Amino acid sequence: MDKTGPGIYLHVPFCLSKCSYCSFYSCTGTDDTLIRQYHAAVTRRLTTLQQLVPWKDLTFTTIFFGGGTPSILPVPLLADLVTHIQKSFSVTSGQAEISIEVNPATINQEGLVKLRQAGFNRLSIGFQSLDDQQLKRIGRPHSANDALETYAVARKAGFTNISIDLMYGLPDQAPQQWSKILDQAMELEPDHISMYELTLEAGTPLATAVDKGAVSLPDEDTVMEMMATTRETISHTPLERYEISNYARPGYRCLHNLNYWNNGSYLGIGPGAVSAFEGKRWSTREDLAQFTNAANSHESQEGEVEVLDHEAYFRETVMIGLRLTEGIDLKKLHDRFSIDPVIYYGKTLTHLLDRKLLKLDGQKLSLTHHGLALANTVMAELV
Ligand code: SF4
Repeated sequence: MDKTGPGIYLHVPFCLSKCSYCSFYSCTGTDDTLIRQYHAAVTRRLTTLQQLVPWKDLTFTTIFFGGGTPSILPVPLLADLVTHIQKSFSVTSGQAEISIEVNPATINQEGLVKLRQAGFNRLSIGFQSLDDQQLKRIGRPHSANDALETYAVARKAGFTNISIDLMYGLPDQAPQQWSKILDQAMELEPDHISMYELTLEAGTPLATAVDKGAVSLPDEDTVMEMMATTRETISHTPLERYEISNYARPGYRCLHNLNYWNNGSYLGIGPGAVSAFEGKRWSTREDLAQFTNAANSHESQEGEVEVLDHEAYFRETVMIGLRLTEGIDLKKLHDRFSIDPVIYYGKTLTHLLDRKLLKLDGQKLSLTHHGLALANTVMAELV
């Protein structure tokens, strides 16, 4: 198991335009003034947070700039924010994983070199597809060539840990098209790849178009075929599947996300960002103006708060942990919660083992190959 610890997430809520499937909080049509106000607000917020328990007592091992589209921010502001975070909190010196999400065509080689110099050591590039028509249909503001170009200049800029994001199950997508995209992506030899099935989020333009019958998504069998293609293609590469949707070369797993899957603590900064500490989870309101005002007046920014009791926190840790292909360590779980998972789940666990959806190997409980494809069904029984 990779060593993980608490992480800091900065939500950068700006995008060039809104992709048709996206329900994340982000603003479009932003101007320089708004961006500078956001930067000033984050800086002030850091000053407040660095004095607060538990954050002031933790040593963070990862920093992640996500969005939105962080690469819309001018590079000097990104560099300033990452420096500010490192000065505000205790961050493992010299070894912290510091990631940033970038979108194709929003940053050039010079900017990427500066990000490296500022301390970012991991890049996540949002490809989503390598088919221009598909990209257009889902409202991505870049071409396949932009994606390939951004990847190439990122390597030239010295990034040795690059992840790419792809989506499958796109409108009218055929398995052959997915297979072609996958082959092209593998030719790049990425260190890490995240592949998500497109899911319809209520209220998005894509969900409305599907509801109206104007757009159709591939059926379940077709999606299963795409998943089989993914397994086959990946098996010829050095990438290993370590989570339901994530694959990495040995030594390149995303430590920031591993902390989420271990149900660890994390501090979220920015509108819409979520923080968690020992069973309590709370989000910052999805409102840029409110975030800016509250940060300036050092007010509390808690939006929705969820406090899990001990058993609910335990069950959640089991479910999130099972997303990892190596599964969960029952002894460690028992040490952490003083609950024996085998006794706690009793017959439910026996049934899942009998149906070969879960497997038990010594102290490790994990999804089987079959269980990985039916993860939602398994989770529903363990909730
Ligand atoms: S770039 Fe990312 S965050 Fe922005 S709208 Fe598209 S999917 Fe959503």
